[in-house]
Amino acid sequence: MKVLKQWAELETPFYAYDRQVLHHALQRAKTAAEKRNYHVHYALKANAEANLLQSIVEMGFGADCVSGQEVECAVESGFAAEKIVFAGVGKSDREIRYALENDIYCFNCESLQELEVIDQLAASMGKVARVALRINPDVDPNTHRYITTGLEENKFGINVWQLEETLARLQTLNALQLEGLHFHIGSQITDLSAFRNLCTRVNEIQRWFFDRQIVPNHVNLGGGLGIDYDRPAASDDPDFEAYFSIFERFLEPRPHQSIHFELGRALVGHCGALISKVLYVKPGIKTDFVILDAGMTELIRPALYQAYHRIENLSKSGQPIAPKKYDVVGPICESSDCFGKAVELPQTERGDWVAIHTAGAYGQVMASRYNLRPFVPAVWTD
Ligand SMILES: *Cc1c(COP(=O)(O)O)cnc(C)c1O
Repeated sequence: MKVLKQWAELETPFYAYDRQVLHHALQRAKTAAEKRNYHVHYALKANAEANLLQSIVEMGFGADCVSGQEVECAVESGFAAEKIVFAGVGKSDREIRYALENDIYCFNCESLQELEVIDQLAASMGKVARVALRINPDVDPNTHRYITTGLEENKFGINVWQLEETLARLQTLNALQLEGLHFHIGSQITDLSAFRNLCTRVNEIQRWFFDRQIVPNHVNLGGGLGIDYDRPAASDDPDFEAYFSIFERFLEPRPHQSIHFELGRALVGHCGALISKVLYVKPGIKTDFVILDAGMTELIRPALYQAYHRIENLSKSGQPIAPKKYDVVGPICESSDCFGKAVELPQTERGDWVAIHTAGAYGQVMASRYNLRPFVPAVWTD
C-alpha cells in the first residue's frame, strides 16, 4: 500500500476503502453462490458505509439486519424488502413494527416470547409475519470465544430441547407463518470443518421437523466465513468457492427449499484500511511505543477481542525492519488501546503514515465517541 497524493490535504485518521477490492470480493461471492442457486444477505453490521452499501445493493445481494436502525438503513439504501432478514435476541416493539410496516422477508426469531410478541404486533396490524426459528445447533466454530454464537451457553437462538414446546406454541399463533430455519455459529471461522459440522446438525434438525410433517421454505446457514488477516493484499481470500462447496456436499436440503447465507466480514474485510499518522515515538522498558493519532475509538477490534491486524509504516515502505520492535498504541486513556505489541516495523518517526490493514469489517461501524473524539471519514479510491 502507498501513501496517495490525494491524502496530502486530509486530516488523519480516516478509513481508506478500495472499490476494486470490494468489487472483486462481491463478484467472486456472487459467482460462487449463484452457481448453486444460493441466496446471500449481506450482514450490515460488518460495515454500513453508504458507498459500500451502494455497491452491495447494485450486486443484487439481500440484507441481514440485527437492529431496527439496520432494517431502516437497508430499506433506505435500496435493498429489496423481500430480501431483508432481521435477527437479534432483543428486538423492541418499535423495531418489530417498523419491519412489519416494510414487509421484510423474514424475522429470525430467537425465543418463544419473541414469537408471541411478533404474533401480537402483526395481528394488531392485520399482517402475517414470516418467521424463521433461529436454532442454536451447539456447534463449536473454533474461533475467539467472544465471537462464538452457536454454543448452548451463548445467548443466541432457541435450544434444541426447547423446540417441541416452541413448535406447539407456534401452531397456535395465527399471525405467524413458519418460513424457515436459521443458524449462525459465530464469526471469523477459518476452519471450514466447523461448517461441515453445522451441515450435519442442520440435517438432523431438518429430519426432526420432517418427522412432524414440517418442511420450511428455506434454510439459512448464517455467516461467519473468516478472512486471512496476515495477508491483507490476498485478492483470492476468502475462498468462497470452497465455502459454498461444503454446503453443496454436506447439506441435505428438501425439495423446493431455498438456501440462504448471511456473509459480512468475508465480503468487506479486505477492502478497508485505517490510515493514521505517528504522533510520538516514546521509549519503553522492553519496546518503544509508537503512538498513533488513531485509537480504539476508530478500530476497537484489538482492544475488544484481541484481534490481530497487520500494521504497515507506509512512509518507510520497503526499508529494512528495525532491529527493535514497537508497541503500536493509540491516544485513548485506556491501556487496552493498543493495536499490536512487539510489532516489527522499519525505524519509525513522528509524522510517518501508518496503515492498519484489513479493517473493512467491524471497523468504522464500531467507532465510538469516547474521549469525545469525532467520527472519522471514509475515503474511496478506485
Ligand atoms: C454477525 C452476523 C452475521 C455475519 O457474520 P460475519 O462473521 O461477518 O460473516 C450473520 N448473521 C448473523 C445473525 C449475525 O449476527
